[in-house]
Amino acid sequence: EAKHSGRNTYAFFSQHLDAQVHEEQRLQQRLQQALGNDGLELHYQPLVDVASNRVIGVEALARWTDSELGPVAPTRFITSAEATGLILPLGEWVISEACEQLAQWSRAGLELRVAINVSAMQFRQHDLVQRLGAILEATGAPPERLEIEVTETVAMADVALTRDQLRGLKALGIRVSLDDFGTGYSSLAYLKSLPIDKLKIDRSFIVDIDQEPESEMILRAIVHLGHSLGLTLVAEGVETTAQRDFLRMIGCDLYQGWVHSSAMAGSAVRDHLHVARA
Ligand code: C2E
Ligand code: MG
Ligand code: MG
Ligand code: MG
Repeated sequence: EAKHSGRNTYAFFSQHLDAQVHEEQRLQQRLQQALGNDGLELHYQPLVDVASNRVIGVEALARWTDSELGPVAPTRFITSAEATGLILPLGEWVISEACEQLAQWSRAGLELRVAINVSAMQFRQHDLVQRLGAILEATGAPPERLEIEVTETVAMADVALTRDQLRGLKALGIRVSLDDFGTGYSSLAYLKSLPIDKLKIDRSFIVDIDQEPESEMILRAIVHLGHSLGLTLVAEGVETTAQRDFLRMIGCDLYQGWVHSSAMAGSAVRDHLHVARA
């Protein structure tokens, strides 16, 4: 009896694993197809000045709704693309698409910054800076309005490489943000030695500031530290006006979050700016 149920349990888990592997393969196939068939989109989330509540830029976020799988979360398909190497062509598409949009806004007189997320494998490409330079030239996007976001974890994994890449990006005139700050481990000495412009404080530090006094203290300390290193501080995932008020009180520079707006299609950004400024 016991033996029998054990075998059933094994069969259950084995089938479950098979199903997962199958699902992952299907996702990878569909993603590859989407990339080749113009099936991915970039949406843009406003980056807002805390003090004036004015939109100063946007972050480009990849979106994918597959005809068979439905909408797939970015963390899901980005992770999958990292595992297969598809992230390199996908990342290149993101850069081109975002730069084209930036060039278009810039020609139309919209002074918006555009931030792009760069994944681990992409950041380790030895020719990333050259590729970016070529895309900037081809699209006519103004480099001083382009920002590259790299996560703290990726940046700190190989500080020597990070320093080289960031120097190359700076030489092109591009700014650099450390994304998901606080979730990894940054040595302060390294933080000081890297040519970073912004710290994007991870959402997990914002989410419970109204409830947890410790979170308020940590957030204050991060803002203070960042400012003393000459960095611009950005809070991610701001969902309530109470959170925004707190950020204003402690002097955080910029925020992103649903309390202002989620990400939208590029074509909706101009109207959003008019409404937000009215
Ligand atoms: P991220 O770069 O830290 O982006 C912020 C994430 O927080 C986005 O999730 C955004 O939609 C979400 N968010 C913004 N405001 C709020 C809020 O008020 N509340 C909550 N709960 N969430 C908020 P999204 O779009 O699902 O992207 C998740 C992650 O996937 C990104 O985190 C980034 O690491 C990655 N990703 C997205 N697009 C790209 C891309 O084009 N290339 C690369 N390499 N990674 C990307
Ligand atoms: Mg980001
Ligand atoms: Mg982030
Ligand atoms: Mg994040």
